[in-house]
This record gives sequence, C-alpha cells and structure tokens, in this order.
Amino acid sequence: MSLPTASQRYLSTRGGSYDFTFENVVLKGLASDGGLFIPEEIPTLPREWQSQWKDASFQDLAFNIFSLYISPQEIPAEDLRDIIHRSYSTFRAPNVTPLVTLDESKNLHLLELFHGPTFAFKDVALQFVGNLFEYFLVRRNKGMEGEQRQHLTVVGATSGDTGSAAIYGLRGKKDVSVFIMYPKGKVSPIQEAQMTTVADNNVHCVSVEGTFDDCQGILKTLFSDPETNQQYRLAAVNSINWARILAQITYYFHSYLSLCRQTSNDKPNVRFVVPTGNFGDILAGYFAKQMGLPVAKLVVATNENDILHRFWKTGHYEKKPVHGQDAEGGIAEDGAKAHEDGVKETLSPAMDILVSSNFERLLWYLAFSTSDIKEVNHKRMHAGELVKGWLGQLKTEGGFGVSKEILAAAKEDFESERVSDEQTLATIREIHGTTLPKTQQANGTKSAPTSGTQHDGHYILDPHSAIGVAASLRSIETGGDAHHIALSTAHPAKFSHAVELALKDVPDFSFDTVLPEQFVGMTDLPQRASSAKNDWKEVREVIGRELETENR
Ligand SMILES: *Cc1c(COP(=O)(O)O)cnc(C)c1O
Repeated sequence: MSLPTASQRYLSTRGGSYDFTFENVVLKGLASDGGLFIPEEIPTLPREWQSQWKDASFQDLAFNIFSLYISPQEIPAEDLRDIIHRSYSTFRAPNVTPLVTLDESKNLHLLELFHGPTFAFKDVALQFVGNLFEYFLVRRNKGMEGEQRQHLTVVGATSGDTGSAAIYGLRGKKDVSVFIMYPKGKVSPIQEAQMTTVADNNVHCVSVEGTFDDCQGILKTLFSDPETNQQYRLAAVNSINWARILAQITYYFHSYLSLCRQTSNDKPNVRFVVPTGNFGDILAGYFAKQMGLPVAKLVVATNENDILHRFWKTGHYEKKPVHGQDAEGGIAEDGAKAHEDGVKETLSPAMDILVSSNFERLLWYLAFSTSDIKEVNHKRMHAGELVKGWLGQLKTEGGFGVSKEILAAAKEDFESERVSDEQTLATIREIHGTTLPKTQQANGTKSAPTSGTQHDGHYILDPHSAIGVAASLRSIETGGDAHHIALSTAHPAKFSHAVELALKDVPDFSFDTVLPEQFVGMTDLPQRASSAKNDWKEVREVIGRELETENR
C-alpha cells in the first residue's frame, strides 16, 4: 500500500510537532506546543475533478475530499464511506446542505447549513466527529474487556447554542461520554431543553451557578489538572479540532456544483460570504480554494466583535482596537453590552468572540506562502516560528502586527465586512420584505426541508445568517456580476429573540410559522441535568459520580 502523502500527515502551527497521523490529530485536538494541527501540504484536486464530481451526492463529495486528507491505511475506504453515510443520514434535507436563491436579480443565494439534528451548522462537522471518535476508540478497544478498555470523557462548555450539537454528535456512542456545562438560568428554555432532553446515558448536562466565562474557567482548570486528565481521559470537540474543519470543506464544493447546475454555467464567478466567529467555517472555504475550487473571494462577515475585520483593514490583530487604527475610521460604539474581558454581547451570540481560535491556521499558511526560503522543511520551521512569536505577543501584549506582504497575501483570498446589531435586524426585515422567486417557495408543508424558514413566500433569516446576507448585499453593490453564496448557519427558530425583535411590526407575522415540529412541546419533555456551584472540584465530582452510574 502507498505511504501517506504530505496532505495526510499533520504538523503543529507552532513548529513543535511533525508527522502526526489523522487519528492522533483528531483524538488530541490541540498540539502539545499549544499550536493547531494542519496538513503538511494542502492537496490539489484531480485534473478532471469538475467533470467527475459534477453530479456527485454530498456523501460522495465528502468521500472524495476526505480521502485526500486521510490515508486509507488509517481508515480503509469502505469504513470511511460508512462513517460518512451514518453521519449525514441524520440530516432532514435529502441533499444535506441545500442552496436556495434569495434574489435572482442580484444573484444572491443562501447555503442552508442547518438541516442537522440541532438546527445549526455545527452539526455538519460534529455528526462526523462523533462517529470518528467512536470508530477510533472501538478499534483501539478490540478484544479488550472492562478496565482495559479506553474510555474518553469529552467535556465542553456552552453559552447555549453549541452544546447541543456536541451532544447530538456523541449521544449513544460507544466508549465515549460527554459532559456539557452551561450557565444556570442564562440559556434560553429551548436551548436548555435541546441539551437536557437527550436520554442516552452517556450524555450529561451540568448546570453551573455562574456565567459562561465561569464555565470556561472550570473547563480550563479541569484540562490543566494532570490527575483529572489521567483519571478520566479528557477530550474536547471544540472548534479547533481538525476534523471539524475538514468536514466543512464539503459544502463549499457541493454548493459550487449546485450553482453550476442551477445556472447551467460551469464557470460561475462566485464569492462565499461567511458569518464568522472562531474562523472555522470560513477556513474550510480557504482550504477548498487552495485545493483548486475556483472561488473569486471569501468574505469574512463579523458582528460587532470585529477583531478579524480590523485585521483585514489594518494588518493588526489586536484584542482592543488600537487608537487611530479603528477599522471604520471612528469609534465603533454600537451600544452592545461589553463584558469585562471586552467581548460584546450581540444578537448573534455564536459569533461573540474576542479572538478567533482558528485564525492561527491561516496565519501559518500566510507565513509559509510569503517566505522566500527554498528548502521546504526549513520553510515550514520558519512559518512555525513566526506563528509562535505572534501568538506569544497576542498573549503578553494583547496583539501583534504582520508585514505588508502578509497582509497583501491575506487580501488576495479574503475581504471583510462588519455588521452591527442594528444592521442585522434591518437585514432580517429587508429579506422578509422581498418575495422569494416562485421556484424557491416552499409548498406550505412544515416538514418540507426548506420550509420552516418561509412565511408566505418570504424568507426568515436567523441573526447570524443575516450578517452574511448584509455583507453580501454590500459586496453586490461593488462586486459586479458575481454570484454571492451567503452561508446560513442557524435556523431562525433557534434565535427567536432577534427574529421577533426584527419582525415585531410586520402584520400577521407569528413566530409559530417558523417553529419546526421538533421544537413544539420540547420544553415539556422530561429534562435531566446535574447542578454544581462555580467550583471546578464540584464539577469533577459530578463527572466521577455520573460516570459510575453509566457503568451500572
Ligand atoms: C459557530 C457559529 C458561527 C461561527 O462559526 P465559526 O466557525 O466559529 O466562525 C456562526 N453562526 C452560528 C449559528 C454558529 O453556531
């Protein structure tokens, strides 16, 4: 059998580790030097990819793409196909991530990524990651009994939106347990119900008396405590896990090919516009583009937590806006409540971040591609050193700046837009005020995959997706005849507060029109959660106690 290629071996962005396997990278999450794992090389597409893949299903595309990054020695082709099929059989839309045209005259399309079990885009990655964890563990445990078996304990913290995607990814999986902490009384009833009504006995919710920041603090302490780590074999499925990025590459190809079919044009000029927080979603688009998908631009759309937007405007990546370098040329005060550490609470909470954890991966490729060193290993080492220096500065000084060449390289592939809460609401209203093309209107049955977001031929955006659409509308004004594909990352029913705020003056609009049948009555189902004070030792006790009950 052939050896793994460079795109099937992984290194750390900070230069401390090389030659890792896919399995190690997935189970480890973070490299020991604190860096993130990336493939040593980005693979290029087969020459005839477009004609060979043009009618492929989502699952077949996923297989074609994943195979470039995972050696068949690690996961034989049949097993990989099986994992992919099981991961996407939980989606309600037959083609997994449908492309909807919002406005024909503007060539504006919406890529709906929320047809998974928890109605958010994170399902696309986490359904796959859950099955991968199980696959690797079951294989390691083959023929082992009882105590000998390796058991992983996945622990995470959520502010409400993303915990359920991790739970649905791992529910019922062998040799894995999952614990999700959330701040007591600070998540919405539907969010809490989405997590606590899952009955599988390897799923554990912990309601913590404190804030989301307290939950994250506990998480950090648990992971940095060697005893806890060893005793429970802690693992994470957070947004820096490489397998999550990999899984997201598929829908860039899938939507591009869908657009080709829908427009009968095999070379459309396409811009992807991505509502961005931790930079995981759009980073997958960068991989797709580097592999050879003909994308004209990737547009980073941020909310008022705009560190990335400021980077593209100034070349400085700073937690706080640097005086005189404000991206908008003025003071960016939109009234959103700021936390102690500087994160603003906006109407798009899944994008409320201070720094974007996956941005480090892009930095490495920018450092690598702009280096004039010839010898490849030396060049990789140099990129790792640069990244390590920048991230060190971010930690000690709160930010860093990059060279003109690096900023220019970043601008070749990306543009950025910043969208305020006010503009978010205005966009939900504006799109609701437009009538969808006839061909895109749902037929009125609630179970039709793309209905549920429509009200009488009018589309209802969730606040995150609205940020992508707002940024697209700006880009359309200056961008000529390009097709814009805005990524839609959540179903509006998950963020009822913002949607109701936006549409409260629309006559005969009722939120019930977008409430999926899966949400109806959910808050009345039996719920299961442990509680803990804001104390990591108490959470550790809960973990120990709950694991015992699982084994019985
Ligand atoms: C996580 C999330 C995002 C941001 O994605 P990143 O990969 O963190 O940039 C946007 N919208 C929703 C609804 C999300 O859950």
